[in-house]
Amino acid sequence: MFASFFIKTHIYMSLNEKIIEVCSIFEEVDNKIINLKNKYKINCIESCGECCMKDNIEATVLEFLPAANFLLQNNNEDIIDHYYQQTEKLKYCIFFNPLNNNGKCNIYPHRGLICRLFGFAGRINKNNELEAITCAKLKYIFPKYNEDVPIIHNYYLRLSTIDPQLFLPFLPINKAIQKSIEIVSLYYRFKKTG
Ligand code: SF4
Repeated sequence: MFASFFIKTHIYMSLNEKIIEVCSIFEEVDNKIINLKNKYKINCIESCGECCMKDNIEATVLEFLPAANFLLQNNNEDIIDHYYQQTEKLKYCIFFNPLNNNGKCNIYPHRGLICRLFGFAGRINKNNELEAITCAKLKYIFPKYNEDVPIIHNYYLRLSTIDPQLFLPFLPINKAIQKSIEIVSLYYRFKKTG
């Protein structure tokens, strides 16, 4: 019953509607993290960006549709082509920019779900306790168990219901970004000719 509800929902959603749904999950996560930061008086170390400097970050295509949509609506083809081509070559995320003060990210407001959860998330551990997952720099000041952290699993589960086919498999982050750009480009191409 539930499965068929979700399948019908995502099948009849346009790409734009899917992007709106993804963004509404982002908004919820962002608000939860803002409340968490305020309540516990914790924040990222200024100018850090270390969580993006990993060569094994994985993401879903779905969570990068808003970023791809932003790029395609606001940039010329050369920039998009540059991002598209570079995704094969770089060790870190294509959008990582150590000179960018806005979170070291060239698309910070449009970044993926994994990026939003970096350092400020939680999981249910094998003892069925809510356990915070944070970074090496924050772990000594981070509240270990508390109900205020966004639980990663819950948000990814919700993401999966928007479009299961764009949700799995998890891919290396640059591959996920590349596929998102392909999907959104195709959508605009058909829209123009349709
Ligand atoms: S999209 Fe931005 S925040 Fe996410 S990994 Fe890339 S550089 Fe970091």
